[in-house]
Amino acid sequence: MPTLKAVRGTRDLLPPETALWNRIEAAARAVFARYNFGEIRTPIFEDTSLFARSVGEDTDIVSKEMYTWEDRARAQSERAQSLTLRPENTAGVVRAYIEHKLGETGQLHKLYYIGPQFRRERPQKGRYRQFWQIGAEVIGPPSAGSESPLRDAEVLEMLATLLDELGITGWTLELNSVGSAADRARYNEVLRAALVNVAPKMCADCQRRAVTNPLRVLDCKVPEDQPIIDSLPKITDSLDEDSKKHFAAVTAALDAAGVPYALNSRLVRGLDYYTRTTFEFTHGGLGAQNALLGGGRYDGLSEAIGGPKAPGIGFAMGLDRLVLTLQASEADQNPDPRPAMDAYIAPLGENLNPAALKLARELRRAGLSIELGDGSFRLKKSFETADRVARRIVILGEDELQSGILTVKDFATGIQTKVPRAELAAFLTP
Ligand code: AMP
Repeated sequence: MPTLKAVRGTRDLLPPETALWNRIEAAARAVFARYNFGEIRTPIFEDTSLFARSVGEDTDIVSKEMYTWEDRARAQSERAQSLTLRPENTAGVVRAYIEHKLGETGQLHKLYYIGPQFRRERPQKGRYRQFWQIGAEVIGPPSAGSESPLRDAEVLEMLATLLDELGITGWTLELNSVGSAADRARYNEVLRAALVNVAPKMCADCQRRAVTNPLRVLDCKVPEDQPIIDSLPKITDSLDEDSKKHFAAVTAALDAAGVPYALNSRLVRGLDYYTRTTFEFTHGGLGAQNALLGGGRYDGLSEAIGGPKAPGIGFAMGLDRLVLTLQASEADQNPDPRPAMDAYIAPLGENLNPAALKLARELRRAGLSIELGDGSFRLKKSFETADRVARRIVILGEDELQSGILTVKDFATGIQTKVPRAELAAFLTP
């Protein structure tokens, strides 16, 4: 029988690497808490139409990359339903915002999530079919200030702080405004007209996009198409006064806070729901898949999926890519960042195993980290094993059990000490 392997584009994460994942997640949670964000957890699968209506029918994600299946009805009261593994989490968060009537509180909601997303992309370094995102959304009724450019700047400043605290240096914040829905519609027509003459010289995808969704042409990565795309009209020239003012206020706040950015008028992002501010943080060390995170404002998303007016702004960062970036930097060259255990208990015989478990239980409950040996080991082997995982070894033989005096050896100093059992926890506490 052929051996079974993890499905293409998915991976197992093992220790010690998972320690780095946990460290990043903990840093993100700590930063989010300082900015008043609370955690939201939405289901991993949703009704397919949620993504079709939010992310957009002609985006690559919805048209080619979703894991969708027909869920059969199991009872008369149920209906068959098309379900999809979430390819991103903003749609789910906005659905939950609507479902739980969060808008009726009249307040701004700051929500973050950490979890897996699924896209049937061509796997390569930094691109997987199951990948993890850490993301956040600021959403609420306009009366709560959800449209304010200060929110955009605050989210961007928070991201700069998080990356700095993680020790990720050399990132670039690329920034653009795609304007209101009306600005975008106008720009789409300007682009459509400009593409009539040049599209036949472009790749097959661009020829299709030139007709169905001209804005998507700007996402094209085919090298030969780049000079043509650079010569197309810029979205910046199609923004109305309100959108220009909004964007100017975002950049003014970033300037005041000292967050560096680069303007990129081609940054329209691959999802249909974006309005006004769009952004990406990139990192040179990542190679072709250089986006660490992306996001933007989505003022019309709630209404597009049947909810109340609820402007918002959010982002999603690729946790897999943060890990790759940190692993590549010198700070994380240590192959096993796990701290050594406080002690290793070595029972000198199988009959002492129950007493060893009892002792380990006492010490662990006192807050110590303990690895437990097995009585089938001989003393020399116990020392070798203990030295690899713990700072000290505690010998538990018949004599020690009877006398209640244990022998502790410290590997760093080589000193051996006799310690009464009642004092052992205090003795081992760092
Ligand atoms: P998006 O939802 O496409 O804007 O993606 C936001 C971020 O998620 C990107 O900047 C990447 O860091 C990460 N990301 C997106 N797709 C993948 C993938 N297939 N594998 C790994 N990370 C991804």
